[in-house]
Amino acid sequence: MTPTSPAALAAATDTHCPYCSLQCGMRLAPGADGPLEVLERPAFPVNRGALCGKGRTAPALLARGVRLDGPLLRDRPGAPLRSASWPEALDRVAAGLARVRAEHGPDAVGVFGGGGLTNEKAYLLGKFARVVLGTANIDYNGRFCMSSAAAAHRRAFGLDRGLPFPLADLPHTGCLILVGGNPAETMPPAVRYLRELRENGGKLIVVDPRRTRTAELADLHLQPRPGGDLALALGLLHLVIADGLLDREFIARRTTGFEAARASAMAHWPDRVERITGVPARQLHQAARMFGEARTGIVLTARGPEQQSKGTDTVGAWIDLCLATGKAGRPYSGYGCLTGQGNGQGGREHGQKADQLPGYRSIEDPAARAHVAAVWGVDPASIPGPGKSAYELLDDLGRPGGVRALLLAGSNPAVSAPNAGHVTGRLRALDLLVVADVVLSETARLADVVLPVTQWAEEDGTTTNLEGRVILRRRAVDPPDGVRSELWLLRELAARLGVPAGFPAEGFPADAERAFDELRRASAGGDADYAGISYARIVAEDGVFWPCPAEDHPGTPRLFLDRFATPDGRARFAAVTHRPAAEEPDAEYPLYLTTGRVLAQYQSGAQTRRVGALNAAAPGPYVELHPRLAERLGIADGVPVAVTSRRGRAVAPARVTDAIRPDTVFMPFHWAGAGRANTLTNPALDPVSRMPEFKLCAVRVERVEVTTT
Ligand code: SF4
Repeated sequence: MTPTSPAALAAATDTHCPYCSLQCGMRLAPGADGPLEVLERPAFPVNRGALCGKGRTAPALLARGVRLDGPLLRDRPGAPLRSASWPEALDRVAAGLARVRAEHGPDAVGVFGGGGLTNEKAYLLGKFARVVLGTANIDYNGRFCMSSAAAAHRRAFGLDRGLPFPLADLPHTGCLILVGGNPAETMPPAVRYLRELRENGGKLIVVDPRRTRTAELADLHLQPRPGGDLALALGLLHLVIADGLLDREFIARRTTGFEAARASAMAHWPDRVERITGVPARQLHQAARMFGEARTGIVLTARGPEQQSKGTDTVGAWIDLCLATGKAGRPYSGYGCLTGQGNGQGGREHGQKADQLPGYRSIEDPAARAHVAAVWGVDPASIPGPGKSAYELLDDLGRPGGVRALLLAGSNPAVSAPNAGHVTGRLRALDLLVVADVVLSETARLADVVLPVTQWAEEDGTTTNLEGRVILRRRAVDPPDGVRSELWLLRELAARLGVPAGFPAEGFPADAERAFDELRRASAGGDADYAGISYARIVAEDGVFWPCPAEDHPGTPRLFLDRFATPDGRARFAAVTHRPAAEEPDAEYPLYLTTGRVLAQYQSGAQTRRVGALNAAAPGPYVELHPRLAERLGIADGVPVAVTSRRGRAVAPARVTDAIRPDTVFMPFHWAGAGRANTLTNPALDPVSRMPEFKLCAVRVERVEVTTT
């Protein structure tokens, strides 16, 4: 870290990183060379001062020329975006939304949010959709991120919080299985917990089709075919049953449904699982013993097993393994999901998901509707029912019966959605696209109106990290003159749209703490109960874990120790069976494609591709393939290759490595243009979570002949 003057240190602001779900603590001081300088904040317990390169370089996002500094609008389709005043831009948006609503009904107006928005923004976006627009069609990019884990969590435990225990518990467990996650690249400060686990004598098993930097830390690396995670979990359950490693007392006392799960697992014997997954039976035996014999154990999943058309069942199978061995609802044991986006957890709790109301309430529950309606001052019957899930909403844009005007906040689906070429076409088919963002993302470039909004260090607001710890980001610098908060622009739009009775414009919170206080009331009594959490407590306690129903409640770092959140207090086995992916390799498309992230970029890259140091470290896409595959296809390291799926074609340089399976290629998904990985990905949906199958599809790979003149 750069030496800092005493005056700058005294003026430093304690806050958090704008990027991933670890929400590392940092200090921001007035900078000698730029608007702000990043300092360590060792007292914050999650990262104890450590930051990755993304966090260290985040102030670059504040620079003029990087971030937007005034509204933009397009006078007619095909015209270039031009500068506009806020009144002109907001009048245009309000008139467009009102026209579509009048001509096609309220559900023809849609809202698409993001897992990076603060809790306050997510809450007010949901309220705006339901109360001002009256539309059912609001969803967000978090649907793409961890909705399968959330669905499995709720099915098993009656409640979904990414980690039901603090990260600090990881080093004290006996055996940790990490399935389809690569924190060494996605959240490097979290690797400390894995190292401490091993120093304490605990075992680490990593499941990943690639030998990632995280897999290199493991005692055992299982390298299944993409889509093999469900069979793998069932195979391990089979073996812990066969080897007598069940915790029968726990199963009898704290679970239901074991017999059906046992019957299913018994059909997944080691040889069969080896054939399905490619993982040798001897490694299956080894893993089952390591986990089954450990006194305590944790399974963590990430996007690998979750972003599948069977993601909910896959996570359910891993939870079954925990339940069968008594590794849940006890200290240092359990199942958890490594959430991805900065507010992926809070973003799904407060109403920007199509089927939920604030407090993680079901929008179909009459009591939940009555509670939230009372806080909002509206008739419960006026709150719409559940709307379309994220991909279904995007797929229907501009079609008869679909959304024709879309307000999109903090998301870049032109790069991050599956089948992204198709989604880009649907965005172009809209009557009106309004994008509220910090930068001119690829999606913002398609918009009719672009509204520049405050970010991270320019505003106050809470997020909820992957542990369920509610933390506070603090304003450390003023935004540019032409920039406004979403909280302000939603109020302005509500006023222009003639807010219905019970929703007066002057009652719409414009400052973050006031919005949070309303969110607390709306969440009170719900699963994600924030009623007892205040900004003052968050500061004093380094964050507060929900549920926290009262100001004298300590918060809940560990869930389920006495009972699970099901009606009978018992966890439910899932009893699932292996099935193939929606699209398996065949003669025409003989390889698996899997996608993921790299150390120096984040999600769609809209922010990190604008940071010089990060771009220098990770300048563009590539196609990772095994040397045997490369030799068979006549492909040398660094030459351009074309990857083609049933949805399109992407071109990027080859990166030849034996860290990947010979039947699989890998592409990072941070880039637009010719190397856009999501041109290829399959939007097949999980039937429960409606999460698309980003993690695997069938492709063919060919060398691209470069012609010279
Ligand atoms: S690990 Fe995540 S939260 Fe921490 S500095 Fe890096 S990107 Fe930011």
